Amino acid sequence: MEQLRVGFIGLGIMGSAMAMNIHKKGFPLIVYNRTRSKTEPFAKLGVPVANSPREVAEKSDVVIDMVTDAPDVEEVLFGRDGVVYGAHPGLIVIDMSTNSPEYARYFAKRLAEYGIEFLDAPVTGSDIGARQGTLTIMVGGKREVFERVKPVLEAMGKTIVYAGDVGSGQMLKLLNQIVVGLNMLAVVEAMALAKKASIDMDKLFTVLSTGGANSFTVQYYMPKMMKGDYEPGFKAAHLKKDLKYAVEMANKLGVPLPGTALTLELYNALVAKGLGDKGTQALLRLYHELSGIKE
Ligand code: NAP
Repeated sequence: MEQLRVGFIGLGIMGSAMAMNIHKKGFPLIVYNRTRSKTEPFAKLGVPVANSPREVAEKSDVVIDMVTDAPDVEEVLFGRDGVVYGAHPGLIVIDMSTNSPEYARYFAKRLAEYGIEFLDAPVTGSDIGARQGTLTIMVGGKREVFERVKPVLEAMGKTIVYAGDVGSGQMLKLLNQIVVGLNMLAVVEAMALAKKASIDMDKLFTVLSTGGANSFTVQYYMPKMMKGDYEPGFKAAHLKKDLKYAVEMANKLGVPLPGTALTLELYNALVAKGLGDKGTQALLRLYHELSGIKE
């Protein structure tokens, strides 16, 4: 069977690692990034670099985008030299960034006008999961389209969940982000209190990481916070975006989510303080400030 030609748009923290795994699995690949310097590692490996999303589409069977938010997806798909201008029969677009079920349905409808199939396929597993190819991927859209591109998704992830109709991938992802956000809040609160109470942080880590409080946040992000490493695996501004979409979805359905709303406001504060490009674990810095702890 002929291998699908894959085009990848958005080589940020996640996209660069995901595209690299697609290349390593032997799929014919072409990449595009708004800031061209991020394409260099690919060019060095002989992977073609496109000058526009349009060129990516012209030369691919499947176009994956991994950009920031819905307006960015809209820009690469429908903007100047966007994907739709490179439309051809059989083209499939997979949006792997996190936005909302409403946007997924909107993208699907507009792309259908150009004869392009669409899947929403957001991911979870952080930067480390992207590098190791162990992401969990949640997919919404037509099942037959999903089955067609599954081998490409398997190059990037270990657990691939077919969620249902278009938009249901994003719905699962927003639920996931509620747990991710509240987990970080819980770990940060415990760490701030521990610091003020002069509790040995290594001992706290041993307890949290081996007992009932254990989580990915404890395992992966707590050691970073203990070292004062606030560099982004997952940017604070992006979690704010996700929690905003989650609260909007809950409001529409009449479900109060006070914990998620509180976490959203804390990330709102973090972004307002200019820390949006730091990792989500930078929430600890806000707590240190609130409780008068010097770093
Ligand atoms: P990132 O490092 O900030 O990368 C964002 C990428 O999108 C960059 O390549 C950027 O291009 C591109 N981009 C943004 N706006 C654009 C526009 N208007 N036109 C063209 N390109 C645009 O972010 P990331 O961590 O890879 O996250 C990407 C998506 O995955 C987000 O939706 C995020 O919420 C989601 N996600 C992230 C993680 C994680 O742990 N990091 C985990 C799961 C899901 P430039 O290089 O030119 O800026």
